Amino acid sequence: MAKIDPDNLQYQCCFCGRSVTKANEGGDELDPCAVVVISKFERPEREQGVQQFFCHVACLEEHAKYGMVERDVLSSANREM
Ligand SMILES: [Zn+2]
Repeated sequence: MAKIDPDNLQYQCCFCGRSVTKANEGGDELDPCAVVVISKFERPEREQGVQQFFCHVACLEEHAKYGMVERDVLSSANREM
C-alpha cells in the first residue's frame, strides 16, 4: 500500500477546477480551504451526511453571493473548545 505524505497533498478547487497553490508555495495565506457540507442539517447527527470540498478562498469569496467570507475569522488560529 502506498504511503501518503501529508506534506505533499494536492488539492483541486471545487469552484474553478484548478489546483490550489498552498500558502507556503506562494498561494493565498488562507489556502487551501475546505468547504464542509452537512446534509439534513436539522436532523439528528446520526442521520446527517458530511462531505468536504477543497477550494481557493478567493473562489469561495467570489461564489458565496449571499454568505460573507470573513477573512479575519478564517485567519484566526485560536479556537475555543
Ligand atoms: Zn478556485
